[in-house]
Amino acid sequence: MSDLAEIFRRYGPAYRAKYGPSMLPSHRQVMAAIEQCRTRPLGGHVYYCPGCEQYVYSYHSCQNRHCPQCGHEAGQRWLEKQQQFRLPVPYFMVTFTLPQQLRGLARSHQKTIYNILFRTAAAALQELAWDERFVGGQIGLVGVLQTWARDLSYHPHLHFLVPGGGVTADGQSWQSARQGFLVHVRPLSTLFRGKFRAALEKTEWYEQVPEGVWHQDWVVHCENVGSGEAALKYLAPYIFRVALSNRRIVKVDHDEVTFRYQDSHTKKRRYLTLPAEEFIRRFLQHTLPKGFVKVRYYGLFSPSYRPLLHQLRLWLPQPQSPVAAPATPTPSAHPSCRCPTCGQPMQWVKKLKPCRYRAPPRPPAAASDNPAVPTRSWPVAQAQPIPAA
Ligand SMILES: [Zn+2]
Ligand SMILES: [Zn+2]
Repeated sequence: MSDLAEIFRRYGPAYRAKYGPSMLPSHRQVMAAIEQCRTRPLGGHVYYCPGCEQYVYSYHSCQNRHCPQCGHEAGQRWLEKQQQFRLPVPYFMVTFTLPQQLRGLARSHQKTIYNILFRTAAAALQELAWDERFVGGQIGLVGVLQTWARDLSYHPHLHFLVPGGGVTADGQSWQSARQGFLVHVRPLSTLFRGKFRAALEKTEWYEQVPEGVWHQDWVVHCENVGSGEAALKYLAPYIFRVALSNRRIVKVDHDEVTFRYQDSHTKKRRYLTLPAEEFIRRFLQHTLPKGFVKVRYYGLFSPSYRPLLHQLRLWLPQPQSPVAAPATPTPSAHPSCRCPTCGQPMQWVKKLKPCRYRAPPRPPAAASDNPAVPTRSWPVAQAQPIPAA
């Protein structure tokens, strides 16, 4: 036994019995979905393999966005769709991390704090990019929220994928970022902190925040991630990965779960063993509020800029390797139509209806879901006119 669904099936009932009254409804739904993913209750199809003379049952997946079995296909679909917005310029990944002193507040008021995080980080990056010492134009951003560190601890942060350049204020020119450089992270960090503070001041929780957090450096990283194609492939797993993939679960033994992770500082592989209950708690704390949009598009990637974005794609010089047309899915046999044992095509026999959904027993009462800009003057990249479409 070494996957999350099995761990939930085995230890979930005890977990729900112990924490039932205080569990969020969203956590219960995620548990139920993952436990039932690709099992008989979700229904599916029965096939027959003439080679092996055996029946093969193929069950439907849960499609819950927190399920480690279901993210891959969604990631592929997203990747294919994003190819139509990709620009032939170098891309950067900019990461904003919420300081530790604000994590308690974020955990208790997820929707509000995550929304502030998105809004203020995107605004800070766009504002700095308008500065001619950096880009001098309107940039585009695709942002994704992640709430975990590799050891499953609570560590909310945002990744933004940003093409290296922007459109000038008159909307007529493309301004390239300097080679291998987008913006300085120190002024970005200061700007982000200031905007976040201003937004939080408007909430009733501002007084709860220790004053020191407004005087420390907030962690912001920026790295060059190569071409748009490479960058999207780099970002897709961030978008569709869940807090823990099944591959990282090493063993489940004596009511303890051991999983591997990469130490973010040393980059070395490490192992962590947790009691099953603590493992489930850590996994569930990364369940996003229902309906929360974890991927957001700003600036050139926002819907209002779509016509200009398509124009830019036609006009910007292509890199040496031409941008391939969006991949069209090649027809192939559905994996469930081939025998998992011998690989032969199988005959469809019948459809299995989903069994009546049986949610885990409800608890008596459920909780509600609840640094200064450098003085050095940077050379301004050559502006290039954008021809009319
Ligand atoms: Zn699933
Ligand atoms: Zn077979």
